Amino acid sequence: MSNHPTIAFATLGCRTNQAETAQLIAQLSDVCAVLPFPEPADVYVINTCTVTHEADRQSRQVIRRAYRANPEAALIVTGCAVDYHPDELAAMPGVRLIATRDDKERIAAEVAAWYDRKLGTELPPSPSQTGHTRAWLKVSEGCNNRCAFCIVPQTRGAELSQDPAKLVDRARALAATGYQELVLTGTNVGMYGRDRGESLARLLDRLIREVPEIPRWRIASIEPIDFPDELVERLADPKVCPQIHLCLQSGSSRVLARMRRRYNADQYRRLVAKLRRARPDLALTTDIIVGFPGETEEDFAETLAMVEEIGFAGVHQFPFSLREGTHAETLDGRVSPAVIGERMARLSEAAARAKAAWQESFRGQEVEVLTERAPEGSPERPGHTAHFMKVWVSAAETAPNQRWMARVDRIEDGEAFATLLTCC
Ligand code: SF4
Repeated sequence: MSNHPTIAFATLGCRTNQAETAQLIAQLSDVCAVLPFPEPADVYVINTCTVTHEADRQSRQVIRRAYRANPEAALIVTGCAVDYHPDELAAMPGVRLIATRDDKERIAAEVAAWYDRKLGTELPPSPSQTGHTRAWLKVSEGCNNRCAFCIVPQTRGAELSQDPAKLVDRARALAATGYQELVLTGTNVGMYGRDRGESLARLLDRLIREVPEIPRWRIASIEPIDFPDELVERLADPKVCPQIHLCLQSGSSRVLARMRRRYNADQYRRLVAKLRRARPDLALTTDIIVGFPGETEEDFAETLAMVEEIGFAGVHQFPFSLREGTHAETLDGRVSPAVIGERMARLSEAAARAKAAWQESFRGQEVEVLTERAPEGSPERPGHTAHFMKVWVSAAETAPNQRWMARVDRIEDGEAFATLLTCC
């Protein structure tokens, strides 16, 4: 593991926090060397507690200890304190990401992105070593947009796209180590190629053509403004996964304008309609910020209505958190934490309903599942479909990193279970 990034975890508070940290360790220990806290590490994940002032104080103290142990490290802060003091924690030295409880996927993605930057062209361990079946192919860095809430353009700089030939080489190498699904990522992936006379659609074509052994290509998070028609057309390719994370941020055109998002709610709707014409079974997931300055009850109601109308398969929701140096600092109309908390709960319910309806639409359907490592002692193994629905199948009859056709026959407590049909 010497070439792998090192990671250390610090956990404060209750058993829930302990369990969540254990889950993160299980998720990340294959791609990172886990060190005892506070040994100098590349990444720290700090799971905070805010049950008392003392717990709050200790949480901040642990963040400072991590920073002192390695001022170059990426600090990822999660847990209860994040819900109450996101701004204060985000402003602490070294803090790279504030992640809510609902945002565990993002922690793994952030660590993976960090890993990618550290290792450059080196490859992660193969899926047979890790049980992970998706690899990230980072196509670009930086962003030329200036969304009012975002500090990324200041921290990552202007858009910079990777050489397509190098990306093909890297994809080939990842395929040779056994990966069956590659996810195109970047700070603003839709802009890929604008700085070198290329485009994401042409890159995708080239990758599919020149690395035919990869059966699944997925586009990660993308901005609605960066979705040209030639990319929409690529969605019809059966190797392109029918799932897009299309960042909405708000369902209110008034709030989107204040966010400087360069599209309005109707443009977003029209894009979704166009995408669904190209790929009728397309699953859409999204990001939503709750309580952006000036967000009224009417604005928020428009967001809720949009979640229902689009039928998102998943919503990553974030309470608005002011970042120093962003345009949002100059905006009036701050929304109180109590109102933000209440809206977060309502959005969470709307998102859960939309997700449940989407999952239900697969009941009785045949899906292709790419299997992953099973939790210790579990009779079932998780996997993801091309639509990025998590599905559990028999662990005894399968191994990690296999593609199986399976029929979804049960959905219980938000989890889908399927009967195996044939191995692809
Ligand atoms: S939110 Fe995305 S598109 Fe907007 S400035 Fe940040 S990175 Fe760029």
